[in-house]
Amino acid sequence: MPEPAKIGERVIRGIPVSTGVCRGKIFVLGKPSEVAVARYDISPLEVPEQVNRLEQALVRTRHQILEVQQKVSEAMGTSDAAIFDAQLLVLDDPILLEEVVKHIHTERVNAEHAFAVVSNKYLAMLGAINDEYLRERVADMRDVTSRVLHHLLGAPGESDLGQIREPCILVAYDLAPSQTATLDKRMVLGFATDQGSKTSHTAILARSHQLPAVTGLQDATQRLRTGQYALLDGYNGLLIIDPTDQTLFEYGQLARRKLAIADRLREVRDQPAVTLDGMRVTLSANIESLDEIGEVQAHGAEGVGLFRTEYLFLNRHTLPSEEEQFLAYRRIAQALKPQPVIIRTLDLGGDKYLSHRHVTTERNPFMGWRAIRICLQERDMFRSQLRAILRASVVGNIKLMYPMISGLDELTRANALVDEYKAELRAEGVPFDDQLEIGVMIEIPAAVMVAGALAKRVKFFSIGTNDLIQYSLAVDRMNPKIAHLYEPTHPAVLQLVKRTVDAAHDQGIWAGVCGEMAGDPVLAPLLLGLGADELSAAPPLVPAVKYVIRRVKLSEARALAAEALNNENAAKILNHAQAFVEDIAPDLFEKA
Ligand code: PEP
Ligand code: MG
Repeated sequence: MPEPAKIGERVIRGIPVSTGVCRGKIFVLGKPSEVAVARYDISPLEVPEQVNRLEQALVRTRHQILEVQQKVSEAMGTSDAAIFDAQLLVLDDPILLEEVVKHIHTERVNAEHAFAVVSNKYLAMLGAINDEYLRERVADMRDVTSRVLHHLLGAPGESDLGQIREPCILVAYDLAPSQTATLDKRMVLGFATDQGSKTSHTAILARSHQLPAVTGLQDATQRLRTGQYALLDGYNGLLIIDPTDQTLFEYGQLARRKLAIADRLREVRDQPAVTLDGMRVTLSANIESLDEIGEVQAHGAEGVGLFRTEYLFLNRHTLPSEEEQFLAYRRIAQALKPQPVIIRTLDLGGDKYLSHRHVTTERNPFMGWRAIRICLQERDMFRSQLRAILRASVVGNIKLMYPMISGLDELTRANALVDEYKAELRAEGVPFDDQLEIGVMIEIPAAVMVAGALAKRVKFFSIGTNDLIQYSLAVDRMNPKIAHLYEPTHPAVLQLVKRTVDAAHDQGIWAGVCGEMAGDPVLAPLLLGLGADELSAAPPLVPAVKYVIRRVKLSEARALAAEALNNENAAKILNHAQAFVEDIAPDLFEKA
């Protein structure tokens, strides 16, 4: 690893979340700030001037939105750009504007104050209605109103990724998964954020998209300015401002060594994931969108162990219909058959919301209205997804998986709905696979404790270590301040994994791991030793895991796991796992 901090350069350290190195100018996107709106009285003579200011601001906002829409359309196609249509509709809403003008007249106040009062009233009204579609309108309206206010106040908003006009390293306060999912890779070479951690969905997306990324930089956006030259090191979590020639040279060498490792990994791509003593491991991929179908096989994965379907629902203003979902699920199953595709039902909530501007009002969103909890309440949404999956199940090898199951009740209720929709389809004469296998994610400690009961009623378990770790250790997976406490090798976590796997095997079903632990080659032998039958990781992470599997003896992995289960120290367990893998696969680790 290059030794950073040469004279003349500045090194900002964060959490490495997605490997790779890039360099270029930085683009700084600060914390979206609340707009401070002053109120001042005006005379009747000043009313026309204030109305005129309002109209000018609306015209400028319209131009700004059209410009962003145009750029998004060029970069990502018209369907992504369509999300701005709803914002334009808000601008054109005559009722809103009439009321603002009336407020200026009757209250004799400045335009920005009148606009803020009226729009806040509408935002509060819409937000209070328990309707998913209307809640989405709140996000549009909030976005538009803050743009208008910025124009009235003479300070165009800085929170727009659409302002990026040349390739850059994005340095942001935070990025929502929905924003990361639509980053234009031609413009954003990599990103660094003040917030975030290794298992935030933004970090997970960065790895899937192979974008170098560093999170947890604390206050970088306040210390840096757009246009500074930098190098982003996603291996070691460094943002190096004004790197010296020596540093650039060292990173050039690093890139060469990484390429050599990539060559070695390419050799195992088409080989099976089998240990030296003959245990066949299922090594599959986690994907978030249809665009990644090609990546699954390109990286040598066997099917999809986790399809995060919620990404079909993000960055849009209407829910995808049953038909649209059916076509998407069928396409994946068709492309990957006979390999399995495990479709996880919606896991919205936590850090994933139905609009990129939607800010949660929940105090603990990861413990709140999320995943299966939403689906069991929002029946129409769940119905269209379950029917779409059932309909697609006649093609290829689809399996269904529920996220965030905390106990038997949720499983029973979800299964009852599946049965109800099967009956509907049967009555309609629509074909589906009656034997469709159903599994659950084990990611809540309570589910581990009742895993025996769950295992009797499902065909497989997939352990979601990202959440299992945060819930068992009470460590928010998003919070960089406590990222050091988020320990995958914590003895409690290993006991939970072991207990889950044992419960599965006792009932004759298989148990996999689809959290980020499964994509870490250092932890793969430990998980196999604990009994995992399947590992599922982002496609680019699959080759290194396969490389390690092919060099490990299951008997030795079991000994490693047995030792870990008797060890009381997370750091020591991690060190042993690291030493073990360095020993069996030394050429995976680049040495300076
Ligand atoms: C997990 O929790 O480990 C998991 C795979 O699900 P997600 O990261 O989408 O919450
Ligand atoms: Mg999860």
